[in-house]
Parts: sequence; C-alpha cells; structure tokens
Amino acid sequence: MPTTRLKVPQTAERLSLGIATLLVVSIGLLAYKAWADFDRRNEQVEITQEIIGGTNALLSSLKDAETGQRGFLLTGEERYLEPYRHAVTEVPALLDKLAVLMASRRPEQAARLERMRPLIRGKLDELGDTIRVQRTQGSAAALAIVRTDRGQADMDQIRAICAEIQGVANTRLTRYSQQARHSSKRLGLISSAGSAAILILLLAATAVIRGGTRQREELIAQATQSRDWLHTTLNSIGDAVIATDANGNVSLLNGVAESLTGWTQTEAAGKPLEQVFVIRNASTGMEAENPVSRVLREGRIVGLANHTRLIARDGRRIPIEDSAAPIRDGGRVSGVVLVFRDVSERLKAEERVRLAVEAAPSAMILVGREGRIELVNSQTEELFGYRREDLLSQTVEMLVPERYRAGHGALRASFLREPRARPMGAGRDLFGLRKDGREVPIEIGLNPIRTSQGDFVLIAVVDISERKRAEERLRTANEELRRSNDDLAQFAFAASHDLQEPLRMITVYSQLLLRRYGGRFDGEAANYIDFITDGTKRMRDLLSDLLAYTQLTGGTQEALTPVDLNDVFRITLENCKAAIEETRAVVTSDALPSVLGHQPHFVQLLQNLVSNGLKYRGDRSPRIHISAASQDGLWRVAVKDNGIGIAPEYHKQIFGVFKRLHGKDIPGTGIGLAICQRVVNRYGGQIWVESEVHQGATFYFTLPPAS
Ligand code: ADP
Repeated sequence: MPTTRLKVPQTAERLSLGIATLLVVSIGLLAYKAWADFDRRNEQVEITQEIIGGTNALLSSLKDAETGQRGFLLTGEERYLEPYRHAVTEVPALLDKLAVLMASRRPEQAARLERMRPLIRGKLDELGDTIRVQRTQGSAAALAIVRTDRGQADMDQIRAICAEIQGVANTRLTRYSQQARHSSKRLGLISSAGSAAILILLLAATAVIRGGTRQREELIAQATQSRDWLHTTLNSIGDAVIATDANGNVSLLNGVAESLTGWTQTEAAGKPLEQVFVIRNASTGMEAENPVSRVLREGRIVGLANHTRLIARDGRRIPIEDSAAPIRDGGRVSGVVLVFRDVSERLKAEERVRLAVEAAPSAMILVGREGRIELVNSQTEELFGYRREDLLSQTVEMLVPERYRAGHGALRASFLREPRARPMGAGRDLFGLRKDGREVPIEIGLNPIRTSQGDFVLIAVVDISERKRAEERLRTANEELRRSNDDLAQFAFAASHDLQEPLRMITVYSQLLLRRYGGRFDGEAANYIDFITDGTKRMRDLLSDLLAYTQLTGGTQEALTPVDLNDVFRITLENCKAAIEETRAVVTSDALPSVLGHQPHFVQLLQNLVSNGLKYRGDRSPRIHISAASQDGLWRVAVKDNGIGIAPEYHKQIFGVFKRLHGKDIPGTGIGLAICQRVVNRYGGQIWVESEVHQGATFYFTLPPAS
C-alpha cells in the first residue's frame, strides 16, 4: 500500500516571508532614519531662523529704544519713552531666549551673545542715564552725554556682533536647508525603492504561494487518490479487514468484514473492537481473547487461537481464522489491523477429506510435518495390525522396517521441501512393518495436503503381496515359455536342417530310379515317381522356409544400421526377375526412405510381398507398386497389387504359420507372411493388409526411420 506523506514544501515560502520582513524592517528603519534626519535638520533650520529673528528683534528693540530716547530728549514728552520702556523689559527676555537657542551645539554663537550682553547693558544704561539727566538737568546736559558718542559706539559693536551672528546663522541655514532637502529626497528615494522592492517581493511571494498552493492541491489529490486506492484495495481483498486506532476502537471495516460481522463502516466507526468483532472458542463456547488488545499489549503479530467462531450481529456463528498486526507510525503503535476469513467451506472440505480417507479402499495415513500420524482409516489398522489409538501421534517410522528407518527422515524432509503428488520409492521394493513383525510388500502414493492446521502428507498404502505373488508366477511362466520356445526353435532348426539331407537322398535316388529303370515303368509308376519328385520339392521349400522362419526367432546382437529401401527394392527385382518376366508383370516403386535394421531381413520382407503379388494374380498381368509415407514417427511402406484379393475375414489369419487360402493350385508353404510379420515385429513395426476379393491387395508395414 503506497503511503503519501503530506509534506508541503514551505522552505521557499518561509524564505520569501523572511526576506520580505527583513526588507520591510530595513525600509522602515532607513525611512525612519531619513525622517529623523529631516526632522532634525528642520528643527535646526527653525532654531537658526529663530536666532536670526531673535537677533533682528533685539536690534529693532534697541533701535526703537534709541528712537524713543531721542524723541524724549528733543520734546521732553514722556510718551516717546514708551519704546524705551518696552525694550528694557523685552531685550533681556530676547537675550535669554537667544541664549537658550544657542546653548546646545552653538557654543561660538553663545560666546558672541555673551560678548554682546555688556554692550547691550551699556547701551541701555547710556539711554537710561540720558533720560535721567534730561529729567534732572535738562535737555542740554542730556544731549551733551549723547554727543559723547558712547552710546553710538556700543550700538555699532552690537550691530556688528548681530551681523556676525546672523552671518553664521545664515550660512548654517543654507546648509541645514540643503541637508533637510537631501534628507527628504533620501526619504522619498527609500520610500519608492522600498515600495518597488516590496512590490517585487509581493509578486514573488504570490508566485511562490501559488506554486505552493498548486503543490498542496496536487498532494491533496494524491492523498485522495491513495485513500481511494486503499479503499478499493481493501474492498477487493477476499479477506475481511478491520483496522483500529491505538485505543482499540474501530476505524475501518472493508466490505467482507462488513458482511461477516453484520456491521457497516459508519455504524462500527469509533466503537470498541470487542463490540463489533465478537469471537468465541468453537469447542468451549467461551469468549476468546480479543486479538487487538493482545497486539497492543505485545506489539507483535498474533494469530488467532484455533477453532474460533465469529458471532455476527445477527447471531450467525462463522468459523474464522485470523491474524492481527500492529500498525506502526514511526516506532509507535498507532493501531491494529485485523485480517480474518470465513473458513466454513474449508472445514467442510476437511471433513469431507476425513470421510473420504475413511471410505478409501486402501490404507490411508495423514502425517504432519514432524512425521506424526494425525489420521488413519480402518484399512490401515487392518494392514498393519495396529489399533487406531496405537498409531495416532506416533511417528510414521514405526511402520517402516528397521533397516530403512535411518534414511526415512531425510526422505520425508526432501518430500516436504518439494511437495507434489507422486508414488514413493520409484524403482525400489517397499515394505511395511506390521505389529506382529511381519513385513508386507507395499506400494505408496504421497499427496501433500494443505489444511488450516498446516501442511500434511496423505499417504496411500496398498498391500501388493498378492500382486507380487502373481508377478512371480507370471515371471516363472514366462521363463518356462521362453525356454520351451527356445527348445522348439532349436528343434525346428535342427529338424529342418537335418531333414534336408535325407530329403536330398530321396530326390537323388528317385531321379536315379527314373533314369535307370524309367523304361520299365508303366504309366502309373512314372506318375508315382513324379509325385515323389513334387513332394520332395515341396518338402525342400517347406524346410528352407521353416529354417528362415526359425532363424528370425529371438533378438540379434548385431547393431542396427540404416538400410536404404531403394536398394532393397532393386535386389528384390533382381531376385524375382524370372517370375516378373514370365508373368509380364510391371513392378514399380516411388522413392523409398532408409530404415533401421538389417538389409537381408528387409529383402526377405519385400521379396515375400512382391512374389505373393505375382503369385496371387488375377486374369490381368500383375501390377505391383511400392510407396512409403511417414506415420507416427515411423515409415509406413505399402505394397499394392491388382491380384485376386483376400476376403476381410482372413486378413488376420494369413499371417499365421502354414495359413494358406488358395489351395494347391498356387505353390506355396504358408510361411511367407509369417516371416514378414516376424521381420517387422522384430524392429518394433506392424504389418497388416487391406483388401477385398477380386479388388487386389495392399500390404502395409511400418519400420523405424534411419534418422
Ligand atoms: P504362401 O504364399 O506360401 O501360401 P504366404 O504366407 O505368403 O504363404 O501367404 C499366405 C496366404 O495368404 C496365401 O496362401 C494366400 O492365400 C494369401 N495371400 C498372400 N498374399 C496374397 C496376395 N497378394 N493376394 C491374395 N492372397 C494372398
């Protein structure tokens, strides 16, 4: 099951967020600094302007005081002293204000101011003195003081110092204004650049976020797909599956689990497993231990105890088999998956097996992996002479004769490694050991069997004592038959061979008799002599055919060689030349194959068939044709003639020794086809005929190919 971990790639997003924050903070700081700079410059501009203004006010106040004093001195009218009085109170205040403005960061201006203070004080004193003198001594005395120009000199110095202060202030003012402009420009620049950077960042962040969103969507789609896949897979499993969380509460039920328990996924979700998956021990009926709590306790895969029944919601009792395994998330057990299946069918099948074993006609033994006997039928009791209880739980070796026991365990293990149904001990005689110590010849079939309780081997044991005895009897009979056959062949050979000599004597002497005394014989006697000659000729033919036949008996030690049947055909034509010419026969052949064997045998075979075709001809001159075709891996040769044919009922018997159909008119011994059959059989082939009376005959024989 492929698991998709939902891992959203957030690094890019986090990075861009970090950069954006950094940028915004930097822009803020820079802007603040520029603004503070600008503010400071502005403040300084204001202060400087105030200094200039203050100085101007000081001068004009002094000037006003002087103008008032002049008016008073000239007119003696008190009202002209108003500006003077005002200046007397205003000038110290202005001086203090200027002193405050210059106190910080303008020490040289403050020094100038201090320099001006005594002069201003002197000026004001001079004004005060003249006013006082005017009042007391008259205007002439006052004007005399004025004419001393003491006040004028003070005033000039005051003006000069004020000009100095204002000059410095003006220079500063220009510088401060420039700096303030510069700061405001920088502020503007920082704001625009910052805004542009933020915009770019915003665009980049949008792209990253969009990418992230797309990826997230893809991951969600994947997750949905894998959830669907998991769902489909779980529902496609033939087994029931229930998953629980770490508390043992049901989180999932597949279709099979739903139908077995009777609960639906929706109903069961979140319920404790014991409520949904109710199990009982089949034999005791007691509640069986919940496998999930065991898995959660032990943290490993557990199989359910044998013979468990699931009690479905509707009360059905279903025999089940199951296992439960922990679901691990990292190292932690995050739940349990329980897999179970309905084994009713299998239990029924096992019961059927038990009944079948009992009903089997031969002994059946069910053996477990360890070689212990689990089940036997009554035939086993009968065959081995034990009672069932004596056999159950014992090792099967107790039924094996002592001398085979050592190797038996290894043989059993090798069978279990590659278990497949097969007979045991191929090519070896097997014996079983009975309780009474007797050994029984047996035949054993092994069948591997898979059951809910594990792998077993079902052994079928057949007592073959009777068959062994029958085989023995057959072997002895065969032996005797072979011996008597050999004797017979030897006798036939000796007889046919030894009879040749006296036969030749009869022939020679009967001819001698005819030659010497022929003139004295009457007609009848001459006829008798002819009979004798015919008889001996026939006898000679018979003996030589019999000899040929007996020589074909038994196997040959010589190695088989490829024989070209075209050569065989040529030799046959040569041998039958006289008969062919005499009967004006046409004997033809297709191209023939090569076969395995000995050439003289095949010449004998073909020559017999061709000469029969010539002999058993009809009214027409004989036509014989030989052809070959392949059949079942052999060559099938056909010898077809246009002769008198053979009625179907004789098709088999003509191959027997001395079996003849056509009387004495046509010469023959009745051994030719028997020889043919022997030759063909000797090489593993068959011979047969297809024919109808007057329809000609086709003889077929099969022989192994040369390659
Ligand atoms: P023989 O020819 O010496 O009698 P065979 O064993 O060769 O002995 O043949 C057995 C009998 O089968 C023959 O006597 C004949 O009646 C019959 N026979 C064999 N070949 C043919 C044939 N080509 N056509 C008709 N009959 C045949």
